[in-house]
Amino acid sequence: MARIVMKFGGTSVGDIARIRNVAAHVKREFDAGHDVAVVVSAMSGETNRLVGLTRDIARVHDAREYDVVVSAGEQVSVGLLAMALQDIGVAARSWLGWQIPVKTSDVHGAARISNIDASAITALFEEKRVAVIAGFQGVSSAGRLTTLGRGGSDTSAVAVAAAINADRCDIYTDVDGVYTTDPRLVPQAGKLERISYEEMLEMASLGAKVLQTRSVELAMTRHVRLQVRSSFDAPDAPEPQNGLAGTLICNEDEIMEQEIVSGIAYARSEAKITLLGVADQPGIAARIFGPLADASINVDMIVQNVAADGAKTDVTFTVSQDELERTMDVIAQIREDIDCADVNTAPDMAKISIVGVGMRSHAGVAQKMFTVLADKGINIHVISTSEIKISVLIDSDYAELAVRALHSAYGLDDETVDA
Ligand code: ADP
Ligand code: ASP
Ligand code: MG
Repeated sequence: MARIVMKFGGTSVGDIARIRNVAAHVKREFDAGHDVAVVVSAMSGETNRLVGLTRDIARVHDAREYDVVVSAGEQVSVGLLAMALQDIGVAARSWLGWQIPVKTSDVHGAARISNIDASAITALFEEKRVAVIAGFQGVSSAGRLTTLGRGGSDTSAVAVAAAINADRCDIYTDVDGVYTTDPRLVPQAGKLERISYEEMLEMASLGAKVLQTRSVELAMTRHVRLQVRSSFDAPDAPEPQNGLAGTLICNEDEIMEQEIVSGIAYARSEAKITLLGVADQPGIAARIFGPLADASINVDMIVQNVAADGAKTDVTFTVSQDELERTMDVIAQIREDIDCADVNTAPDMAKISIVGVGMRSHAGVAQKMFTVLADKGINIHVISTSEIKISVLIDSDYAELAVRALHSAYGLDDETVDA
């Protein structure tokens, strides 16, 4: 008997038939004698609809009330799933985040989980009942509802798994594992049997939305055994011998053969800002990026050119497209202070990244990336690297072409899939 967390995303609970299918998956594990906690997202499209309502009511609004609205989708899906389970003879009850409670910071819209009291969940296990828990939501120390950022149910699931000391945390979604790149963009993407926490962390933070970044970070630090698998597999299909129905996120030393590049991630909706003719003197970077940080604007890539005349320089950085307007407001306020001559913006950029722990010990990986992009006539605006990833910023129109070309250049194409 094991203790397990099963998480089901939006598409997996998208309609009544799918909720019944989820219930059948849960019943399989429950009937096998396991303690089961289920974490669910809102039905697909619902969170987007709720976010839309908050924007329609007021462009600038109280973030605490935003969380009250957007967390509502999960309330519906937990209730429906608990009913579906009861309907097939599985004793279950639903919990909202605040009822557990899932305690979080008070950063509304992007709260971090600080603590989960596991006692209510484990008491339910004693009664041989299934706990159905709303993902994405928690409660701040001030008693206000919070949400964990888009895709946050993954993080709820991993946090519950850590709190109840689960043997595993299975993330059921609409793909059957983690692929070398988004299989919706590249049909030749191949499923990975295993991927290291570190690589998955990079992939997620660089745009692969199959797992929320924070969930991977938490799984890595709390040693949660995390698997991504499909909710569309038949609930009564026999489990594979090795227990790996999808992709296991694990320690690097559990992976036998390590490719140089394991995967390619992309993020559209990036915007590039260049501050021209800024004074080249100590403290300038702090005077630019301090106010942006104070406004909670997430700055990603940064490059500063060497001043040709020793007096003036250009600073380029990227933010997500939906932060561009706020960024420009901040820049307008500090422009005089930093002595900036002009500002250029390019709102339609994409960041393409190659990820792999094998890069640590291989030369020429970056060179190949630049050559492939050059051969396709794709201009690189900004480059950034870390030990296990290389990212480039390019025009968004070329994102798909770049991902496909790189995927095949690094030998990741699954030959069994027709191009
Ligand atoms: P859920 O609603 O279950 O949380 P998401 O839509 O958040 O599902 O995440 C699953 C999606 O992530 C897939 O449908 C796929 O298009 C996308 N995705 C992006 N990159 C990858 C990748 N490398 N491997 C698998 N899926 C990926
Ligand atoms: N329902 C939330 C969202 O759409 C959380 C999640 O799906 O993980 O972002
Ligand atoms: Mg998701």
